[in-house]
Amino acid sequence: MTLNEIAEAYVKLVLAIGQHDADYVDAYYGPAAWQAETIKQPLAALLQQADALLRQAQALPAPAPAQQCRQDFFLRLLAAARAYIAQLAGTRLPFDAESAALYDAVSPALNPADFDAILAELDQLLPGQGELNARLSAYQRAFEIPRDKLDAVFSAAIAEARARTRRYIDLPPNEDFHVEYVQDKVWSAYNWYKGDSYSLIQVNTDLPMFISRAIDLASHEGYPGHHVFNLLVEQQLVRQNGWMEYCVCPLYSPMSFLAEGSANYGIEIAFPHAERLQFEKETLFPLAGINPDLAERYYQIQAVLQKLSYAGNMVAQRYLDGEIAEPAALAMLMKYALSDQQRSTQRLRFIERLRSYVINYNLGQDTVQAYVERRAGSENAQQRWQVFAELLLQPKSAAMMAE
Ligand SMILES: [Zn+2]
Repeated sequence: MTLNEIAEAYVKLVLAIGQHDADYVDAYYGPAAWQAETIKQPLAALLQQADALLRQAQALPAPAPAQQCRQDFFLRLLAAARAYIAQLAGTRLPFDAESAALYDAVSPALNPADFDAILAELDQLLPGQGELNARLSAYQRAFEIPRDKLDAVFSAAIAEARARTRRYIDLPPNEDFHVEYVQDKVWSAYNWYKGDSYSLIQVNTDLPMFISRAIDLASHEGYPGHHVFNLLVEQQLVRQNGWMEYCVCPLYSPMSFLAEGSANYGIEIAFPHAERLQFEKETLFPLAGINPDLAERYYQIQAVLQKLSYAGNMVAQRYLDGEIAEPAALAMLMKYALSDQQRSTQRLRFIERLRSYVINYNLGQDTVQAYVERRAGSENAQQRWQVFAELLLQPKSAAMMAE
């Protein structure tokens, strides 16, 4: 079998795995017939197919240099699909082994003490005295976007993110998206890529959205995040190159490590700090009815909070590995990630549902950032965008990015 033939069989395998888990196939833009022909098969049969495909892929002759990256990444996609079938069949790996198997990445082992210095920094920045979580919640209340202004704020953020992305990445003229406000979800927003350069972006309104989330979500879900990544992959890798393994996006795979990591780093690519602050002050804060004079301090605090994001990985690892029970996990999230009770509860539900997927956001972001800035530096916008876009069109796993 050639790589192209194994790739086709892999796509059909991923679609078949999707019959056991509706979340697994995150997007599909391959031939409709492949999807229509998919039937539910026992997991044992799928495991055998995955093993056979892996053996065939490993036996492929060394590719031409231009195809080496494709083949390397494809092997990792296949291995991840195999690992997920095993997980569906009941294999429960420890947190780190699971993330290595599914995402080809392991988050650093951290202890609560690793966050002490960051918490001390926040203690200096936040008004009031005493327990940090309550102080942060009180402080942040002034930065909630009123529900009736949410669409105006989010629309402005996404329009700006789109305009900034267009300056550096050639987007097809028909690319488009629709924003929908939904409730009762474990995530705060989700991009559903529908194919043909069209996305449905859902924003969860269960909890009020803070002003900082407008640009974060506009870039992460839209430009240059998931929407752009998907349309580039569809257009160039699938339609132009004929690399069919990319016509399906399995949620639990190294593709998600790159997708979440690049979507998060994409926020900074599209909105470097000073430019973001200016846009927030001049446009988003006024649209939300929030005093723009507060923006500077608010984003100073956000930058410190961002450093706490790995506390989420620490809690997820301990909770899923059975080292701590739910009340302790919640308490730890509140103490070290500093989200309030409701948000911590939402986050714990997310951790239960998506498990080690949580590392894709922060470790993915740091890995993509290091990869891009090693090649382009952190100052030259044009170069950063170029390396960033090249990475999206030549997907790499964490280990491949570290090479
Ligand atoms: Zn995402």
